[in-house]
Amino acid sequence: MPDIPSSRLPGFHRLDVEARWRELARRGDVSPEELHVLRALGSPSFDILNQMIENAVGVFALPLGLGLNLTVNGRDHLVPMAVEEPSVVAAVSYAAKVVRHAGGFTADADASMMIAQVQLTGYGSPELARERLLAHREQLLALANSFHPALQRRGGGAREVQVRILPAPEGPQGEPLFIVHLLVDTQEAMGANLLNTMAEGVAPLIEQLTGGRVYVRILSNLADQRLARASCRIPLAALADFDLPGEDIAEGILQASRFAEADPYRAATHNKGVMNGIDAVAIATGQDWRAIEAGAHAYACRTGRYGPLSRWTLEQGHLVGRIELPLALGMVGGPIKVHPGAQLGLKLLRVTTVRELAMVFASVGLAQNFAAVRALGSVGIQKGHMALHARCVAVTAGARGLDVEKVARLLVERGSVKVETAREILASCQAVTAP
Ligand code: NDP
Repeated sequence: MPDIPSSRLPGFHRLDVEARWRELARRGDVSPEELHVLRALGSPSFDILNQMIENAVGVFALPLGLGLNLTVNGRDHLVPMAVEEPSVVAAVSYAAKVVRHAGGFTADADASMMIAQVQLTGYGSPELARERLLAHREQLLALANSFHPALQRRGGGAREVQVRILPAPEGPQGEPLFIVHLLVDTQEAMGANLLNTMAEGVAPLIEQLTGGRVYVRILSNLADQRLARASCRIPLAALADFDLPGEDIAEGILQASRFAEADPYRAATHNKGVMNGIDAVAIATGQDWRAIEAGAHAYACRTGRYGPLSRWTLEQGHLVGRIELPLALGMVGGPIKVHPGAQLGLKLLRVTTVRELAMVFASVGLAQNFAAVRALGSVGIQKGHMALHARCVAVTAGARGLDVEKVARLLVERGSVKVETAREILASCQAVTAP
């Protein structure tokens, strides 16, 4: 395997964008052709857009940043992140740096097992219908696989048939829900289209075997057979910051974790922080981030009560963070081979398999969460956030070019990061420089 360049790029944030491009090219993160793609990301060819969605009339661009310092299972990864929110990229880079010095993230991911659902109605006796279907398990699997023979040749394909009988939502007078699950190994694909084709394909056989009628047939986005996990272990001394000892910072993080476990109102915001990182890298690598979001939040609710996707504990003098969530990702399929930015994003990440991609995503989610709970449990989130948010406020007030940094700095100094204040500052700067 070729040497992977380090994800440590000291001083990268101080370079202008041209210098950042040169640095990526010098390190071999992007080829000359890819550099061209990177420069042109904001204006892709209209042909590509037209292939992607209907009625395309333009491009809605997002900034693409690079999360730095990430190391997962001993391998370094630059993390492409497409996101509009200030501080997300800085937070993940900071957290990854702390964890890197503590040995990096450890992660693992399940095989790409996805669930297709087929809803059967009018089936008569649920026990008899279940028996009949399971007796024809091999025939159902063979039929499902006949729709994607190449997937089987690649080592994937339909693997299992399950039946779930659920109480009718109307109460005892309603027909219980009879749901057939088809478990499919989608290999390097996210798998939605693969599964939907199979689910639609097996529906007539399910009807024939049971005498029932199939209505809905589609994949489930609760991809709980396809989980990814990441963890990190940080010595307390490495947490010391803001003139506070590591023990104190750790206590704040532990309290934040307890809060999220006990209270769904807090857990929702805790998980939003996790998804700040995961969504950003999902968008930059052409993943279906709505599918990821749906799966993550449904999984967060699996016990019947919404809870945090990540947790923090104190173990033998170390702060230990763990995250687990479903990640239905793809290295192929969807827009991945169509959108040049998605291909570039995957190249920058330097992952070779979809499982490795999921491990990086889970680590990014945990890194993002670490940065958030560390700030929340100590100096508060506004200190770091406002410094970056101030630039947006300055631009909103009309600042351009060098004025942006100047106005942003003055906003933070005054402790009033507001558009009105920015307008006043801008007006006074312009009055000073007017001839
Ligand atoms: P595709 O339909 O593009 O299918 C992936 C295809 O890639 C496979 O059919 C296969 O085609 C090919 N392929 C090449 N190499 C591999 C490999 N190593 N492993 C697996 N497949 C390989 O994508 P998906 O089925 O992954 O569907 C994802 C898309 O579906 C996303 O864009 C998503 O937005 C969308 N979607 C999502 C829904 C949801 O989440 N609820 C619902 C509907 C759509 P071949 O065998 O012919 O080479």
